[in-house]
Amino acid sequence: MRLILLGPPGAGKGTQAQRLVEKHGIPQLSTGDMLRAAVQAGTEVGKRAKAVMDAGELVSDAIVNAIVAERIDQADCAKGFILDGYPRTLVQADAVESMLSERGIGLDTVIELVVDDRALVGRIVKRAEDAKAAGQPVRKDDNPAVFEERLREYYKKTAPLTGYYYAKGKLRTVDGMASIDAVTAEIEGVLTAAAKAR
Ligand code: AMP
Repeated sequence: MRLILLGPPGAGKGTQAQRLVEKHGIPQLSTGDMLRAAVQAGTEVGKRAKAVMDAGELVSDAIVNAIVAERIDQADCAKGFILDGYPRTLVQADAVESMLSERGIGLDTVIELVVDDRALVGRIVKRAEDAKAAGQPVRKDDNPAVFEERLREYYKKTAPLTGYYYAKGKLRTVDGMASIDAVTAEIEGVLTAAAKAR
């Protein structure tokens, strides 16, 4: 199963991806996590990405496309994967198409978590507080000022992907404002329906 989770920052993509990993035994490919790991490790990619990420802007398509292309060839992706936070631009969406078709595989479903923007800043602030309380590092971009920029980037560059996937008949929407369990249940319903339709 190859899935894309779409939605603005704070919509719950990461949380739901984790649950899908547990249930379906396929990996979560989060470009945000991969880029943070690169920053942490001080690689060339990490050095180039750091300032852009701290400002809440998007890292270049070339960098993220290369990271994902390499990742999906790893053995744990053979049965499928969940793309979380990727693609984020139309150029990236086209890159996914090419990557998959070159490998003779396709995309099953794109699930958009639909949320109320006004709730998102609160979620991000809570995520930062929870990380701090758990003694984990707090993401530098999880603060209200940078969040505004991340949301602007989302509307400018990522939101058009809903139309892109709708036109391809791949888009399914889920109410991301429901409880975490209810969102999980709705996603499972969407996946079951999609599997039956295949
Ligand atoms: P995330 O953890 O998905 O919220 O991503 C954190 C940050 O990493 C974003 O604000 C971007 O700076 C960068 N990033 C993650 N995924 C992408 C992507 N697909 N394209 C460009 N930048 C990305």
